[in-house]
Amino acid sequence: MTKKDFYDVLGIPKEASGTEIKKAYRKLAKEKHPDRNKSANADQEFKEVQEAYEVLSDENKRKAYDQYGHAGSSGFGGAGSGFGGYGDFSGYGGFSNIDDLGDIFSQFFGEGFGGFGRASGGEKSGVTRGADIEATLKIDFDDAVFGKYKTISYYRKATCKDCEGSGASNASAIKTCSECHGTGQVTRIQNTFLGSIQTRSACTTCGGSGKIITEKCKTCKGEGRVQVEEDFKIKIPPGIPDGVTLRFKDRGNAGKNGGLYGDLLLTIEIEAHPTLERRGDDIYLKIDISPALAALGGEVKVDSVRGPITMRIPAGTQPGKIFRLSNKGGPKFKGNGNGDQYVQVNVAIPEKLTRRQKELWQELLKGTEEKSGIFG
Ligand code: ZN
Repeated sequence: MTKKDFYDVLGIPKEASGTEIKKAYRKLAKEKHPDRNKSANADQEFKEVQEAYEVLSDENKRKAYDQYGHAGSSGFGGAGSGFGGYGDFSGYGGFSNIDDLGDIFSQFFGEGFGGFGRASGGEKSGVTRGADIEATLKIDFDDAVFGKYKTISYYRKATCKDCEGSGASNASAIKTCSECHGTGQVTRIQNTFLGSIQTRSACTTCGGSGKIITEKCKTCKGEGRVQVEEDFKIKIPPGIPDGVTLRFKDRGNAGKNGGLYGDLLLTIEIEAHPTLERRGDDIYLKIDISPALAALGGEVKVDSVRGPITMRIPAGTQPGKIFRLSNKGGPKFKGNGNGDQYVQVNVAIPEKLTRRQKELWQELLKGTEEKSGIFG
């Protein structure tokens, strides 16, 4: 895919000033933001706008881009991976002009943007979002059909209460890092064939936090978080499909040093029922009936999600016939009402006969004409 010209993406002339670039970006970022713009291309267009702004708002990157085009601008990530990281939204850490954009981010980058939007504009470098916790939750067939509140227990890392996540034994044990002067980043000048380029990277002395802890919190040993067992009540919606993943925001691990919480991701595994099978909102069941019942018709008790129910077999029912029992499924996952139950009838031919049964079958056999047809 050929990349669009960054000036075209922002709709500005080549000689646009920094203020004009910023203005164009603000306007487009609002317009194209996926939370607001529901068109199919919004995501992609939003990323293009971000990428164009990232380059054109930075004097060095813009110069390289003007001179060499896209080839010149890639590889200038500063965040280590060029412009990678645009695929998931956690890669915005390398955003350089983030300070000026606080208002846009607080307005639009709230929910749904992973940790980035809530990471207070990247100011707290070194503070990371905690990892998501992924687990499988086995649930009963009945609970999946009708839904249930379930309390689950699991272990996660939670922000240490004793130090409130700082990792320090007391407030005076937190000192500003002398290497980066509290910024968490160090600036280096690199000489490349394009001229000298400034890159910023995390300060190795303080690990990017900007702080040095002189006396660690005894409870969490300086990590700012501790392992805890959590009881958490979750709602399983009625009709939940097998294999879906439920996401519970902020129920994952806390980040280090007061970082944000990751999410809890529970993948639902529904235990099989001995006879009933779920397909979407409907229930499927296979039953065996005798040839006599198939021929004469009558009633039969069958399993359903609400226990045994009676269904009518019409006279002359053929093997393999499927009957629909309307409204006999469980509550629909989406929408109102219940699904249906489908019952496939197999006519079971007896393999062993009593003397009496044999006589009766022989009676039936008299005068029966066999039909011929093509096999299969
Ligand atoms: Zn602590």
